[in-house]
Amino acid sequence: MSTKFPSETKRIIAPALIDEDQNFDLTLRPKKMTDFVGQEKMKENLKISVSAAKKRREPLEHLLFYGPPGTGKTSISHIVAHEMGAGIRVTSGPALERAGDLAAVLTNLQEGDILFIDECHRIPKIVEEVLYPAMEDFALDLIIGKGPSARTLRLDLPHFTMIGATTRIGLLSSPLRDRFGAIYRLNYYHEEDIEKILYRSAKIIKVKLEKEGAYEIAKRSRGTPRVANRLLKRVRDFAQVKGNGVIAAKTAGSAFLNLEIDSFGLDEIDRRLLSALIEKFDGGPAGIQALASATSEEEETILEVYEPFLLQRGFLCRTPRGRCATRLAYEHLGQKWSEDNQKKLL
Ligand code: ADP
Repeated sequence: MSTKFPSETKRIIAPALIDEDQNFDLTLRPKKMTDFVGQEKMKENLKISVSAAKKRREPLEHLLFYGPPGTGKTSISHIVAHEMGAGIRVTSGPALERAGDLAAVLTNLQEGDILFIDECHRIPKIVEEVLYPAMEDFALDLIIGKGPSARTLRLDLPHFTMIGATTRIGLLSSPLRDRFGAIYRLNYYHEEDIEKILYRSAKIIKVKLEKEGAYEIAKRSRGTPRVANRLLKRVRDFAQVKGNGVIAAKTAGSAFLNLEIDSFGLDEIDRRLLSALIEKFDGGPAGIQALASATSEEEETILEVYEPFLLQRGFLCRTPRGRCATRLAYEHLGQKWSEDNQKKLL
């Protein structure tokens, strides 16, 4: 998924697709189930569903993948299509502006095709209503004429599989959600899995990656394969220009010093948010509005882009009265943590 936040487009540790990724993302995208690292339980279930559907010679049930950006939702959808030997049509919620946009896509599908809709929480309501009979009955209801003489014409559609991807499952309407046969959550990746992804990518882009070098990159990758690959590319450039082309711990360390990405994968903006909370609000609690004006960032960007990782890694916590910096944030920024801070978290 590409970002809707302008400030994210140049951020090296952004989990969403940014300008510099375009071709790189495609080159490194895993094509087969065996190339897709981690998420073992999901893969196991998908393999069973795929072989059962193939045995019955039926299309696969509709699937929904949700989870943070850059964790493999698009990749796994293409892999499912590949394993089914099916064609895949790709679109996204925001691209389907009118009912006619979806009707055009649906009428061009072939029997057994996969229809992949990214950011499916952003499908407009009026378009979603066309999707319901399509998913349930493989039918397209067309309204012919206007006013009292209008009538509905039902067209049969080929049996297809819809695969939806979303970062915000909470925003999905329940009628849409209920029409998926299976829902899978993609989680952030463990560092060992990120290292495996890095070795695979290093092989593809033909750079020598040492074990310690992979470790340095993995721990800064925020559990996100897309970030890992982008950091690998930046460190490779650094190794080729300033070093001997091999990614060792030292090369990676110097590259990250240059890029101002610290050992937890925090960048300058993350640190600025945490420092503001500690220095201007005595560690919090601070409301989102106050934090936004203290850092000159937009509230929505803090909520959707910066905060989720800081919360997930325990640098921030939310209390009923606002956000507080945790002990980890204080220690990471070299600030003194006190008992009073602890009480605020309770
Ligand atoms: P999403 O759709 O969740 O935003 P993508 O499927 O586009 O994520 O993944 C972004 C990139 O990260 C892919 O191009 C691929 O290189 C890499 N990637 C994601 N998940 C995996 C995985 N499990 N194994 C290997 N590479 C992965």
